[in-house]
Amino acid sequence: MATAKRILPASTNPRDFVIATMGSHSALQILKGARDEGMRNLVICKEGSERPYKSFGVADEIITLKEWSDWNPELEAKLAERNAIIIPHGSYVAYLGHERVQKMPGMYYGTKEILHWESDRTMEREWLLQAQIKLPKVFEKPEDIDKPVIVKFHGAGGGFGYFVVKTPEQFYEVKDRKYPDQNDFVIQEYIVGVPLYAHYFYSPITGELEIMSFDKRYESNADSIGRIKAQDQLTANIHTSYTIVGNIPLVVRESMLPQFFEMGERVVEVSKKLCGGKGLFGPFCLETIVTRKLEVFVFEISARIVAGTNPFIEGSPYTALKYDVPMSTGRRIARDIKQAIELGRLEEILG
Ligand code: AMP
Ligand code: AMP
Repeated sequence: MATAKRILPASTNPRDFVIATMGSHSALQILKGARDEGMRNLVICKEGSERPYKSFGVADEIITLKEWSDWNPELEAKLAERNAIIIPHGSYVAYLGHERVQKMPGMYYGTKEILHWESDRTMEREWLLQAQIKLPKVFEKPEDIDKPVIVKFHGAGGGFGYFVVKTPEQFYEVKDRKYPDQNDFVIQEYIVGVPLYAHYFYSPITGELEIMSFDKRYESNADSIGRIKAQDQLTANIHTSYTIVGNIPLVVRESMLPQFFEMGERVVEVSKKLCGGKGLFGPFCLETIVTRKLEVFVFEISARIVAGTNPFIEGSPYTALKYDVPMSTGRRIARDIKQAIELGRLEEILG
C-alpha cells in the first residue's frame, strides 16, 4: 500500500519533537521512557482516565477527549503543531480501529502496512508460516472439531468470551446459548502447555533484533479455576474465560533463548518481503504456548508494544545485561526515535 508523501520536520534536535500516546495500556512506560531519553511527551486521555498520568507525574501535557470519536482533524492539527510522534499500543488500535489508524495523517512510530497483515487472520497465518513458525491448527468449520479447541470471537476485548470445547455438539451448545448472533470467530486447536509472551524490539537504526523481556498473563477466570477442585468446577458450571487482568514477569529457561532469537529474526525477515519495504520494526510480541516437549506454538503476533512489558519499567533481566541504564520497551522506543531524529533518518521509523 502506497503511503502518501509527507513533509517531515527538518530538525535533528529531539527536543523539537513530542512523543505522544493514548492514555491506557502501556502509556505510563511510554511517557516515562520519553522523559528518560530527554524528550517531551504528551498523553491523550478519555475524560475520567487522566488520574494515573497526573498522579504518577509522568506527562508533560494531557489532552482530554470526551469520547474517542472526538479524535478528529482538530486534534490531529494540535499534534502536528507539536511535531508529535504517536506511539500505537493495544488500546489505541482497539479504540480507533485498524482502518482509521491506517488513514491518520500524523507521524506514527511503526509500519502501518503490517497492521493489514496482522488484522487479517489468513494473512497473519501466511506470514508466520513463511517464517517457519509452529502454529496451532485452525478448523475451518465447527463440524470439523475432533479435539480440544479454543473458540475466539473477533474483537473479543482482552480474551473475554473465549471458550474451550472438543466436539461440534459442545461448540453449538455454548455458541447458541451465549453468542447466538456472533458469527465472526476462529476455532484454534487448544495447545496444552504454558502461555509465554516473548517481547522483542527490532531497530531499523541499529539493524539489531533484541529480546526485551517475557511475561505471562493473569487471566480471569482461567487463572482461578485451579483454586477449586474439579468436582466443584463442574457443580458450579464454570466456563473458562481469559479476560486479561494483569501481567506477570518471567525469565525463560536459558537454553530456549537461541530459539526465541531465531523465531523473532525470521518473523522480521519475512515481514520485509511481505510489505515490500520497511517491514516490521520497533516492539512486537510473539504470543506462544510452550508444551511439555518444549515445542513453541505461536497463537498470535502483536506488531507493537504489548502491555506485558509493563512490569519492566525499570528494565528486565535481559535489558539489564545489555544496557547500563534501566531500559523499558517504552524507553527503547524513545531511544530509537531520538537516534533517528539525530541522524536525519526519521522517515525510516515512521509508518
Ligand atoms: P483497555 O484500554 O485496558 O480497555 O484495553 C484495551 C485493549 O488492550 C484490551 O481489549 C486488550 O486486548 C488490550 N490490553 C489492555 N491491557 C492489556 C494487558 N495488560 N495485557 C494484554 N492486553 C491488554
Ligand atoms: P489472546 O486473546 O489470543 O491473546 O488469548 C488469550 C489467552 O487464551 C491466552 O493467554 C492463552 O491463555 C489462551 N489461548 C489462546 N490461544 C490458545 C491456544 N491455541 N491454545 C491454548 N490456549 C490458548
